[in-house]
Amino acid sequence: MHHSEKKIIKEIHINPDNCNGCRACEIACAAFHAKPKYSSFNPSRARIRMVINEINDEWVAIRSGSFSKTECKGRSRYIINGKEYSECSFCSTICPDRTIFKEPDSDLPLKCDMCGEDPEQIPMCVQICSRQALTYSYREDQVHMPEEKIGQDLETGLGALTEKYGLEKIKDAVGRMVKKN
Ligand code: SF4
Repeated sequence: MHHSEKKIIKEIHINPDNCNGCRACEIACAAFHAKPKYSSFNPSRARIRMVINEINDEWVAIRSGSFSKTECKGRSRYIINGKEYSECSFCSTICPDRTIFKEPDSDLPLKCDMCGEDPEQIPMCVQICSRQALTYSYREDQVHMPEEKIGQDLETGLGALTEKYGLEKIKDAVGRMVKKN
């Protein structure tokens, strides 16, 4: 059986050629997601991070995406407009290979939530970027998903997290979230 629903898809477009590596996007994201909101602005808690290679003049903002429990084997280099980029510059995966996108206290993955579902809510990183390196748009899409797939995705996600962090830690985190709501 299939489940179908209309969904707003929010998108952030990244133009590395316009970025100067000011890192304002990291600060705005960290502050917006701090608890309480705006109480701190530690970039290591941001869901958007800069991949910087100064020698190569490489500045790319990437958003945190899905969690992977396996180490990446890819070491590809990409040439775009004559400039060389590493694979990490375009990869949003929260992976064991790098420290970014992990909550510094608990090591739990930090995932970009586009600053909420409201399409009028422009993500904070886009609002703060004065260079048009980050731009925003949204579209409405029909999303089809088999009922059984929804349950499977949830199980796989929870299974991977439990394996990595242990059941007690996950139960604690869920308990804290339930209390807050
Ligand atoms: Fe680059 Fe814009 Fe982020 Fe500054 S705010 S680092 S220019 S993407």
